[in-house]
Amino acid sequence: MKSKTSSQLFKTGVQALKKPQPRPLVRRYGTVQNVSPSLLTPHSSVFEDAIASNVTRNTWTKEEIKEIYDTPLMKLAFAAGTVHRRFHNPAAIQMCTLMNIKTGGCSEDCSYCAQSSRYQTGLKASKMVTVDSVLAAARIAKDNGSTRFCMGAAWRDMRGRKTNLKNIKDMVSGVKGMGMECCVTLGMIDAEQAKELKDAGLTAYNHNLDTSREHYPSVITTRTYDERLETIKNVREAGLNVCTGGILGLGEKAQDHVGLIHTVSTLPAHPESFPVNSLVPIKGTPMEKNAPIAFDATLRTIATARIVMPRTIIRLAAGRTTLSEEQQVLCFMAGANAVFTGEKMLTTPCNGWDEDREIFEKWGLRPMESFEVEALRDLVTAAPLEPSETKQQASVVV
Ligand code: SF4
Repeated sequence: MKSKTSSQLFKTGVQALKKPQPRPLVRRYGTVQNVSPSLLTPHSSVFEDAIASNVTRNTWTKEEIKEIYDTPLMKLAFAAGTVHRRFHNPAAIQMCTLMNIKTGGCSEDCSYCAQSSRYQTGLKASKMVTVDSVLAAARIAKDNGSTRFCMGAAWRDMRGRKTNLKNIKDMVSGVKGMGMECCVTLGMIDAEQAKELKDAGLTAYNHNLDTSREHYPSVITTRTYDERLETIKNVREAGLNVCTGGILGLGEKAQDHVGLIHTVSTLPAHPESFPVNSLVPIKGTPMEKNAPIAFDATLRTIATARIVMPRTIIRLAAGRTTLSEEQQVLCFMAGANAVFTGEKMLTTPCNGWDEDREIFEKWGLRPMESFEVEALRDLVTAAPLEPSETKQQASVVV
């Protein structure tokens, strides 16, 4: 190709200068910056209202949550961090330890789970462990800084499990007696069982929704989404704290993260705890070849949940071992404020206490006290921000 002469180049330059120039996109500190138009989109009132709000609301629409979720990621994470600082002590991270009290042999078909009897995962089923062994494990967890002790049993529900329930109640009262928060996950429970657990001193009941209502049938077929919601209702009505969250990487789309957050944030009261798990693919399960969830989707989910449910504890749960130290810290900045620490997460690996202590020390974090958030909730008086409440907001007790 023939190259242009210098006079031709000069002519082209003059012509270009004569063309109407696009207006500078943003002027800041006297400097004209070319900024991506997506970053210059004026704050939507949904986003503005959400980050300025001093109250919790359970009237979110899916469209509103989608708008928040789709916000440019750095802006979303920064805003979530701002909300987090208004409602929580950003330096306090709760350390929880989860113990499997009855392993494997489960009749359900959750496609990600090593404990389902339907898949050849090589996991050996075992009977329920003794009360003494649970209390010994809780003592070790407490001595290492965990302030919440959770117990999980692999079965569908508590029907016909009277002896098991009695033993679990002994475990609960023993753990509670150590001054720790206590949570159990025992599959579906009815109103009476929820009340019995509450009377035994249980702090919270975990029952994850796992994913959106739309994606759910691709993951589990042996119990319905509505059955899960029924258990959550029984838990709430018994006066227990609700712990319910999801697993990312189940082959879902971004809209399913929005759908899950929409379901939990429009319950009559927000869950006190929202665990965010990342799939740890287990050989032998239908999801063994699932691609890992991208970190930006994890961060987006945490940040959106923080903005939409500002008082909820957001837990980095299974799959945390796949995150780098810096990725974990980014999650803490964007609103995550609990981790599972210990030897194991049911059947998958877990970050250890020593490792977490080191990270906490380096980044100026500290383990949360037991029941610290309960106390904080009573004290929260959010700093007044510019009023921008354009929508009527329903206040919910969380
Ligand atoms: S996730 Fe729970 S209910 Fe589902 S198969 Fe595993 S142990 Fe059973």
